[in-house]
Amino acid sequence: MNDEIILSVKNLKKWFPLRRSIAEVFKGKRKWVKAVDGISFDIKKGEIFALIGESGCGKTTTGRLIMKLEELTAGQIIFKGVDISSLSSAKDIKKYKEDVQMVFQDPYASMNPRFRVRDVLYEPLIIHEKTKNHAEMEQLAVKALEEVKLTPPDEFLDRFPHMLSGGQRQRVATARTLVLSPDLIIADEPVSMIDLSTRAEILHMMKEVQERLNLTYLYITHDLSTARYFCDRIAVMYLGRIVELGTSDEIIENPLHPYTKALIAAVPEPIAGKENIIKDIPIKGEIPSASNIPQGCRFHTRCLYAKPICYESDNDPELEENSNDGHYVACYLHKEIN
Ligand code: SF4
Repeated sequence: MNDEIILSVKNLKKWFPLRRSIAEVFKGKRKWVKAVDGISFDIKKGEIFALIGESGCGKTTTGRLIMKLEELTAGQIIFKGVDISSLSSAKDIKKYKEDVQMVFQDPYASMNPRFRVRDVLYEPLIIHEKTKNHAEMEQLAVKALEEVKLTPPDEFLDRFPHMLSGGQRQRVATARTLVLSPDLIIADEPVSMIDLSTRAEILHMMKEVQERLNLTYLYITHDLSTARYFCDRIAVMYLGRIVELGTSDEIIENPLHPYTKALIAAVPEPIAGKENIIKDIPIKGEIPSASNIPQGCRFHTRCLYAKPICYESDNDPELEENSNDGHYVACYLHKEIN
């Protein structure tokens, strides 16, 4: 990994309008679901960067915004120096979607059940007009299957998705991204629908491929235990904001934000062979609705350390660096707590 920034996300927002009652329409009131509410981060070339948080924290929406599957409300997404919201020609957008690929949570749903593995792998080559030569397509498909360790490839090319195990399907899904030689892969919960026994194998394969091809991953997950093993850096999201960001080791061994501490405490088994360092950091209540975000620090309704500054402030605490170590936290009281 070098220091070249491949993706830069700046103050990104995605707000969805809520349906309004007639009375609200007449009063001119608008309500929003603030799925992503002003997040910034950089990903270096060759890095595995994780976005972690509970359902509804905005991590998947962030991935979809980067993939251009959603239009952003505000902010910038800069990929290899180009602001992707400025891409307007179909040709530029197509090229971008070739360079940035996505592995989805459910490999079965993301594949046409009537396609054989061969067709699944040919499809992106045809869409992106990489080649019309059948022999070349076959060669690229075989190479991609070899990369993901589905060997011998001939045994798999003619199978339908239902003839594969969950792990094999996820390998094919990964191979499908590789045929286009992307620079960035967004992996959205890639192992959450796979048997526990196969998860480590799939992540190991993905990491091996990443190292061999010097790929960059944005790994989206709710699972801190896999992120520790798999990622270089972790950003923890809560209700549309990043509350903590740092190297995987720092986040797991020295969490600074009360929410991160609660997430680590909730991991049932020790993380990557380490004993769980935090035994009993409870968290109050449920995650609030993204259409009704609490004033001040949005975590205050669940935080055991909350003081008046946390709920009387007009704004969320900003991410600030803890001690020049690349470890950032957004908490008014982090020095007091830690
Ligand atoms: Fe808790 Fe206050 Fe820190 Fe928010 S700012 S995490 S409420 S202590």
